[in-house]
Amino acid sequence: MRYVSTRGNAPILGFADVVLAGLATDGGLYVPEAWPQLPSAPASRYTDVAMQVISPFVDNDIDHDTLSRLITESYATFRHPDVVPIVDLEPGHQLMELFHGPTLAFKDVALQLLGRLFDHILSSRGEKVTIVGATSGDTGSAAIDGVKNCAHVDIVILYPKGRVSDVQRRQMTTVDSPNVRTVAIDGTFDDCQDLVKAMFNHAEFREAHNLSAVNSINWARVMAQVVYYVEATRKLGGPIDVTVPTGNFGNVLSGWIAQQMGAPLRHLIVASNQNDILTRFFESQSMKATTVHPTLSPSMDIQVSSNFERLLFEMNNRDGAVTATQLARFRQLGTMGVEPDQFAQWIAPTFRAARSSDHDTLATMRSVFENTGMQIDPHTAVGVKAAREFAEDGVPMLTLATAHPAKFPDAVERATGIRPALPEHLANLFDLPERTVDLPNDLDAVEAYVASTHR
Ligand SMILES: *Cc1c(COP(=O)(O)O)cnc(C)c1O
Repeated sequence: MRYVSTRGNAPILGFADVVLAGLATDGGLYVPEAWPQLPSAPASRYTDVAMQVISPFVDNDIDHDTLSRLITESYATFRHPDVVPIVDLEPGHQLMELFHGPTLAFKDVALQLLGRLFDHILSSRGEKVTIVGATSGDTGSAAIDGVKNCAHVDIVILYPKGRVSDVQRRQMTTVDSPNVRTVAIDGTFDDCQDLVKAMFNHAEFREAHNLSAVNSINWARVMAQVVYYVEATRKLGGPIDVTVPTGNFGNVLSGWIAQQMGAPLRHLIVASNQNDILTRFFESQSMKATTVHPTLSPSMDIQVSSNFERLLFEMNNRDGAVTATQLARFRQLGTMGVEPDQFAQWIAPTFRAARSSDHDTLATMRSVFENTGMQIDPHTAVGVKAAREFAEDGVPMLTLATAHPAKFPDAVERATGIRPALPEHLANLFDLPERTVDLPNDLDAVEAYVASTHR
């Protein structure tokens, strides 16, 4: 399996190199040269499905037994025997709980595996890397948990100061491992992401510190998330519709890939909060960046969804030069249109989109609690509202529950009157000392700090 950059001007690489590289050297994102098809052999457990989905992407870069062990270890950290159980919500509408991993958000599904892939690949090569990442809240803690025991990895996570929840921040800042650093940036998530991208585009710096990425541009994350869409169609049959609380477009892109691989998925519903650049794009066929609004679902407070580039590349018939030009114009002008025939071929048959205001989100959390006694987190609520709008008789609807309610206790308490308790393994989170540094939204300052952490 070989991987190409969405901007068409970077070396073609195999799986292991793509994992370590994160971003391609031309600024693009790596995608496989072709989409493999799912085998027809039935699987009986999540880890078997994972092996079926992931093996063709890894190919010969990791031997079968090692890959199987890494997958088994990754999902043994989840506190539910089904790993990602499906529960009933209302007639014709179920939730897939993706939050039973160590840090209580769906990002653990990908990052538990990614940490182990990194350590395996690096130790077999005798190399070390510094992972630099931006987080709107959940990626950071999940990435840190995924690599906190890795001898071959240092990690520096940037987060927007004051814009992540106390639980999210403490899950990052209380990890006491010598290879873990967290930085509060005076800015938004997009500012943090821009700083990370700038460090990667700074070739000298990137090479001096052997930088690597684990944000959702890393191919292995998108790959690991394909598994639960296939698991959903294994359990529910198909075709099904899936609603995805969306920020960076990584999660829903994985659903689209599962569909390309042959999983019976009909509609993918992109659920946005007030930061609705994608919803406006699906309505108007034109992408227009605006400013970021803080909401009750902070992990989706994103204006520029970086993983959209992978779909754009497909829409351009995999022409990297066209994709690069289009994105350069978008960066310059803040707006980008697609042709009606591209939209009709790639978007209209599969994608639907909806938005939720904070008011809607609270009302949805409340109605779910009143109807079922279940507490859902605000991101999941954004999804449930969209799913209710698009549900059709006869087609099972599945909403991806992307975080545990206890990760966002303030919003959940506001909606339901009851403060959700943290699961037992995190019960002492508020007693542990925090370690973090404050830095301005300034590339030189951040680079100087990253350089100073070099062990
Ligand atoms: C990251 C995150 C999202 C958004 O996922 P993307 O892959 O960025 O679209 C949604 N909900 C929660 C809880 C998250 O942590």
